[in-house]
Amino acid sequence: MKRYSVFAIAREAARYHDGWERAWRSPEPKRRYDVIIVGAGGHGLATAYYLGKNHGITNVAVMEKGWLGGGNTGRNTTIIRSNYLQDPSAAIYEKSRSLYETLSQELNYNVMFSPRGVLMLAQTHHEVRGYKRTAHANGLQGVRTEWVDPARVKELCPIMNIHGPRYPVLGGLWQSRGGTARHDAVAWGYARACSDMGMDIIQKCEVTGIDTDGGKVVAVETTRGRIECGQLAGIVAGHSSVLAEMAGFRLPLESVPLQALVSEPIKPCMDIVVMANTVHGYMSQSDKGEMVIGGGTDGYVGYTQRGSFHHIEETLRALVETFPMISRLKMLRQWGGIVDVTGDRSPILSKTPVEGMFLNCGWGTGGFKAIPGSGWAMAELMAKGHSPLTAEFGLERFREGRFIDESVAAGVAH
Ligand SMILES: Cc1cc2nc3c(=O)[nH]c(=O)nc-3n(C[C@H](O)[C@H](O)[C@H](O)COP(=O)(O)OP(=O)(O)OC[C@H]3O[C@@H](n4cnc5c(N)ncnc54)[C@H](O)[C@@H]3O)c2cc1C
Repeated sequence: MKRYSVFAIAREAARYHDGWERAWRSPEPKRRYDVIIVGAGGHGLATAYYLGKNHGITNVAVMEKGWLGGGNTGRNTTIIRSNYLQDPSAAIYEKSRSLYETLSQELNYNVMFSPRGVLMLAQTHHEVRGYKRTAHANGLQGVRTEWVDPARVKELCPIMNIHGPRYPVLGGLWQSRGGTARHDAVAWGYARACSDMGMDIIQKCEVTGIDTDGGKVVAVETTRGRIECGQLAGIVAGHSSVLAEMAGFRLPLESVPLQALVSEPIKPCMDIVVMANTVHGYMSQSDKGEMVIGGGTDGYVGYTQRGSFHHIEETLRALVETFPMISRLKMLRQWGGIVDVTGDRSPILSKTPVEGMFLNCGWGTGGFKAIPGSGWAMAELMAKGHSPLTAEFGLERFREGRFIDESVAAGVAH
C-alpha cells in the first residue's frame, strides 16, 4: 500500500494523478479462510484489522451483502462519547474514544476525528439526578466528564434557548473530548488497512446459511458459493437475529428503524454536539455547514431503512423549541438504518452456542462511537478466547439476569 502523505499528493500532482491505486482490492473469494467475518460495517472491519494487527491472524475474509460501510456505519450521526454509567460500558467506550484520538495516524487515513465536545442536556429533574450520577461514576472510571449549569450550557452553545416553555434546560453532562468523525472514512480506513494486510473484503456477497458439523461451525453458504472457515463472526447489526436463526439459535434483541436528517448548509453557528434526550433530538453541524439531526427509533420492529414520518415531525418540533433559529431551515435529506436493541441497552460481544461462532451486535443507536474499541476487544476474544473488555457482554447475562443497564446513557429512548 502506498502511504498517503503530503509528498504523495505532490508526486501525484506532478503526474496528473494517474498513480493512485485502489484503496482496497476486490478479490474472488478463496475456498477457505481461518476467519470469516459477516458484515463489512465499522465493527466487522475493525475486528478484522485488530485480528491482523494485534494477533497476526490475516487469513481473514469480510463478507458484505451490499457495499462496505453501507449499513448503519454510513448512516449514523457520528457522535462519539464515552459517558456511560456502568463500569464495563465505560471501559469499552473509553477505550474506543481514546483509539479515535489517533486513528487517522494509525490507519494513515483521515477519519476527521473532531473532539469538539458533546453536551447531553438535562431537561427534567429526573435527568439532572441521572446525569449527576453518571458524572460521579465517570470520575471513578477515569472518564473525563463534568456536570455543567444552565449558564455554562448557554456559553457552550449560544444558539440554544435554555428557557423553553415545556422543558427548560436545567444543566447538562459535558464531555469535552467527545465529538464526531467522518463515518465513511472510518470504514474506508479500516478496509484499506485490512486489504493491505492481505485480507479479502468481498462485497456483494450475502451469507445465506451457516454449516455446522458436530455443533461446530465449518462453512458459510453465500451467494458466491460455499466457503469454509475455522471461526465465524456475525457482525451484522440490524440483521443479527436473521444470522442467528441460520445457526439455529435466537437472540434477545429487536431490530428497529432509526432515522436522521440534514438541513441545507448554513454558516457556522454551533461548534459542539448537543443531545436533548427528553424532547428527543440531537444536533451538530457538519464541516459543510449542514445541521445533522438525529431522532428517535420507530416504536415497532421493522427492516425498512427509512423510519416513520411522524418521527421527523416530532424531532423537528422538539429541536425548534430548543434551537428556535432552525425554524426557517429547509431539510435536505432524510434516511434511516436498522438498529439492533437489547433489553439492557448494552451490546453483545460473545461466543455463541455454536462452537467457533462469535457475535458482535446489540449496539442499538450508539455503536459508531464504539467501533475501534469493539474491534479491538472482539479480535482479542476471537484470538485468545477471552477479553477483559468483553467479559461482561456475553449472551449468558440475559439468562443469568446480570444486565448492564444503560437506558439513561443510551441517549436515544428506544
Ligand atoms: C440514523 C442513525 C444514527 C445513529 N447515530 C449514531 C451516533 O451518532 N453515534 C453512534 O455511536 N452510533 C450511532 N448510530 C448507531 C451506529 O450507526 C451503529 O451502532 C453502528 O454503525 C453499527 O455498526 P456495525 O458495523 O455493527 O453495523 P453496520 O454498519 O450496519 O454493518 C453491518 C453490515 O452487515 C451487512 N450484512 C447484513 N446481513 C448480511 C449477510 N447475511 N451477509 C453479508 N452481509 C450482511 C450489512 O449490509 C451491513 O453493511 C446510529 C444509527 C443510525 C441508523
